[in-house]
Amino acid sequence: MSNIFKIAILAGDGIGPEVIKQAMKILEKVKQYLNVKIILDEYVVGGAAIDLYGNTLPKKTLYGCEQSNAILFGSVGGPKWDYLPLNKRPEKGALLKIRKYFNLFANLRPSFFYNELSILSPLKEKILKKGFNIMCIRELTGGIYFGQPSGRKKKGINEYAFDTEIYSKFEIERIGHIAFKIALKRKKKICSIDKANVLNTSILWREVLINISKEYKSVKLEFMYIDNAVMQLMKNPSQFDVILCPNLFGDIISDQCAMITGSVGNLPSVSFNQDYFGLYEPSGGSAPDIAGKNIANPIAQILSLSMLIEYSLKEYNISKKINDAIKKVLNRGYRTLDLSTNEINEKIVNTEDMGTLIMESII
Ligand code: NAD
Repeated sequence: MSNIFKIAILAGDGIGPEVIKQAMKILEKVKQYLNVKIILDEYVVGGAAIDLYGNTLPKKTLYGCEQSNAILFGSVGGPKWDYLPLNKRPEKGALLKIRKYFNLFANLRPSFFYNELSILSPLKEKILKKGFNIMCIRELTGGIYFGQPSGRKKKGINEYAFDTEIYSKFEIERIGHIAFKIALKRKKKICSIDKANVLNTSILWREVLINISKEYKSVKLEFMYIDNAVMQLMKNPSQFDVILCPNLFGDIISDQCAMITGSVGNLPSVSFNQDYFGLYEPSGGSAPDIAGKNIANPIAQILSLSMLIEYSLKEYNISKKINDAIKKVLNRGYRTLDLSTNEINEKIVNTEDMGTLIMESII
């Protein structure tokens, strides 16, 4: 790796700029420990870019991302731009375009559980006692969301609609290899989610994974039907480590993984392409209902930076320092409003203070 690492910062809309600012405080603090010189370049995107340039993804922003080694993304969208046609709105016009442009086919969403926040989880204490730490890997650019033909035909009572679920061996292999490589660094087990009792794509999905599993003999590969998986996640999430899913099932399972932690404000994500070029972003959206009030939870954005440091910079120890600092701050009772547990020792803090507390706790 060259000794210069460029990060494109795309704060976006709503709470995006507020939480990105906190991640920048953390980066400023850990910069001294990194083995590379970090160069940050900020670009406008989403609704903010529509307001400034009339375009949700200006050429300068896309070019800036191309010239970078990774993207740190806030979030985009909000009611102000909902009057626009779908493909000109911030989410479709910016985020989905960036994903497509850079071919970001592997979406990783870690979902872990903080003991301090157990009360926020909808799961019972006897289930939570065992804890959980799941890495949900979702195929992001194929499957039924993109398959053709897709559309509607005829009129009246005979009108019908159709979508196509399609996966090639190539698409399954490339996401499969990413999942196996990640499993090697974790508990060496993968649970792949499908519906192989009904769908041809799921049968191929299984065949390809079984085939490539021969290259990763130390990793245990299991399969589970999607209907069983959603039940098992509620009943015993601790049984999972890496969960691998095609696009549609991953959409469902990754949100369920988020829900059982109790707060979307704590969950980061990354989407990679074949060269592990990554877009790092919080799992939640731009939260327009709380934007501009300095009350948003910055943890998901800070953890997205931490993932960037772990996966793109390969500085696992620095990423761990950040993760440990977050645990320490939560353990001392500090909470943003969304994390309020109404405990006696709870101290509600705003976005800025939460960012500063985490920054100061990094040792
Ligand atoms: P959302 O995630 O923005 O908000 C859902 C709820 O979670 C809200 O009550 C919000 O206040 C809360 N929330 C989310 N993140 C939070 C945080 N960090 N701290 C505290 N509370 C938080 O989802 P939505 O309401 O469906 O969408 C709002 C806008 O965001 C829409 O315009 C949507 O298109 C956009 N969106 C963007 C992305 C993205 O940029 N990746 C993802 C999803 C939605």
